[in-house]
Amino acid sequence: MSFLTPDNIRIEHGLEIKEKIIPWGARWPKASGKYRNGDLFKADRLLSGGTGKVEYVTVHNTEDIPEARGTNDAEQYTRATWPNANMADVRVHYYIDETDCWQNLREDEVGWHAGDGNYGPGNDTSLAIEIIMDGSGSAADRAAEDRGALLAAILLDRHGLGLDRLKAHKDWNGKFCPFYILPHWAKFVAKVEAHLAVIRSREEGSTYMLELSMLAQDDRGDQVKALQHLLIANGYSCGGSGADGIFGPATENAVICFQEDCGLLPDGIVGPDTMGSLLGC
Ligand SMILES: [Zn+2]
Repeated sequence: MSFLTPDNIRIEHGLEIKEKIIPWGARWPKASGKYRNGDLFKADRLLSGGTGKVEYVTVHNTEDIPEARGTNDAEQYTRATWPNANMADVRVHYYIDETDCWQNLREDEVGWHAGDGNYGPGNDTSLAIEIIMDGSGSAADRAAEDRGALLAAILLDRHGLGLDRLKAHKDWNGKFCPFYILPHWAKFVAKVEAHLAVIRSREEGSTYMLELSMLAQDDRGDQVKALQHLLIANGYSCGGSGADGIFGPATENAVICFQEDCGLLPDGIVGPDTMGSLLGC
C-alpha cells in the first residue's frame, strides 16, 4: 500500500493543509453504480452557476475508520476517493481529523455532498468539510471537531462570509448530518465564531481593536461577543442581555466560574489558557 504524497502543503492560522486536488477532467477508472468506466469523476463545474463564488460552508461528519500503520483517517479518505475510486459519488473539498487535513477539490468547484442533487443549492454553492469523528468525546474526538471549526472559520473568512453562511448538511436535504455535532450545534457555531474573531483580529487593517489574549472587564466588541457565545454554549450565563459584546460584571462572573470549574486561576481575565479551555470544551 502506498500512501498519498501531497502536491503541496500550506499552513493557515496554524492549520496544516495537504493538497491532493482531483485533476480536472479525471475519469472513472471503472464502472461504479450509475457511472460507467470513463465517465467524468466529479462535477468539473464551477460553483454558483459557473461563477466559482462560494456562498456557504457545509459541515459533515464521517466515521473514524481503522487506520493503517503510518497514516491517518484524512489521508485514507482522500486516497479512497482518488485515485482508488472507492467513495461512490461523494466528493468533498476537505477531510479533517484530529491530526491531519487534506484538500481534494479546488475551492471554486462543485462537490457532491449535500444530497440535494447536482444543481441543488447545497452542492452548487457550498464548500464541504468532512470532520472525521467517532463520537466518543475523547480528546482526539474533540480535537477533530475543534480543528473542523477552525477550518470552517478559515473558509468563511477567506470568502468574506458571515456566520450565517455556516450550514449543517441537514440544512440542505434533512439528513441527520453532521451526526456527532448536531446535538450540540450551537456550541460548534460558537467555536467557529471564536476562531473567526481571532482570525479577523489578526488581519491587517482589522477594525478589531482587542487582542484576544487580553480580554477583561470593560472590553467591548465582536471578540467579547464570541467569548460570550462560547460561555453561554457551555452553560455559563453572561447576564440578562446575553451575548451583547460588552464585558460587564456578569460576563466576568461567568469567566471566573468557568475558570474555577476548569482548575484555572480564577482571575476573570481571558488569556490563552482560558480561551484554549473554552475551545476544547
Ligand atoms: Zn453529511
